[in-house]
Amino acid sequence: MKAYDYQGKGLLQDTPTGFLERIKKEKQKEASLAIDQMSITTAAHKLIQLARIKYFEEHKVDDPKCKKFDPMKVFDIDLSQVSLEQDLGGKVVPMFNANNLTLSASSIDTYMTCPLQFKFNRMRIPGQNKTYFDLGTSVHDTIQKISEEKIEGKMPSKKEAEKILDNKWIFRTFESGQQESSMKDTAKEMIEKYVEMEKENNNEIVGIEEEFAIKRKNVIINGRIDRIEKNQDGEFELFDYKTGKTMIKPEDMISDVQINVYAAAIKEIKKFGKLPVKATLMYLRKEPVSTTISEMNVNGMMKVVDNTIDDILAGKFEATPSSSTCRNCSYKNMCEFAE
Ligand code: SF4
Repeated sequence: MKAYDYQGKGLLQDTPTGFLERIKKEKQKEASLAIDQMSITTAAHKLIQLARIKYFEEHKVDDPKCKKFDPMKVFDIDLSQVSLEQDLGGKVVPMFNANNLTLSASSIDTYMTCPLQFKFNRMRIPGQNKTYFDLGTSVHDTIQKISEEKIEGKMPSKKEAEKILDNKWIFRTFESGQQESSMKDTAKEMIEKYVEMEKENNNEIVGIEEEFAIKRKNVIINGRIDRIEKNQDGEFELFDYKTGKTMIKPEDMISDVQINVYAAAIKEIKKFGKLPVKATLMYLRKEPVSTTISEMNVNGMMKVVDNTIDDILAGKFEATPSSSTCRNCSYKNMCEFAE
């Protein structure tokens, strides 16, 4: 793969990190495809290429030409860990147990939408690229930086915010410069809107990208909450930024897994210690939508989460196709149940 494959189209402005990410992504896809097709030798080649990329990332300062990279180390593994006797003997080995399963609010949501989609995800079966992942990450990272500056008392202007976006802009999945350029315009509009909304906001920011890990049924659910604020009454409010086009109906927010898991997590984080009173989904292409949080509702939804964990551990992965769920699924082109 050559740099001009990416850079020769004129519009894509690649950075060394972005370029490396794109090569990595391509090699990961090729490795997965080779494994799917049982082309073991090709898969081994791709794994060595990926190991070399990893080596380069770790040693680009002390060994930029990867002279000390040893491909044989890739296969320097403990063979006792690769025994297949139990599997080949026909004993059913559960795909997950409480020790090897870690969930996020969005993976629970995926399972509730379609258990088969969750399984494909966990098996790391490559689906179609979704350009909005790069858009979403770039916008989230930009907002994080703007929020950090606001906490320091230096709320950036629209122009300064645009510069931050330039620095945070990443692309791994855009297929052309034209697509990238159109996504960048969309991102700029979202950041402008965010800066405008932020001017009116007098709440105190008390958490940005707040990490959490809570245990349910011995399974860890972890994640990051985009933002937590303390309002004028000393109560907490949680915020999640949305860069997609699809909006949740306000009446469905009460049963939204992410909102309820995040609310439960805020209560468990020592420095907060209580439920937030309000959750807002900040749709940056449209208008924010909010809901109040109640203890009864959070408890009820966490019971639903517990039941979902039981189903995952029991290996229930039946497809639940429908035109609306399959339309947004990365696996729709390969799934035999797709509608
Ligand atoms: S295409 Fe439909 S049925 Fe298949 S995994 Fe995706 S959501 Fe499920």
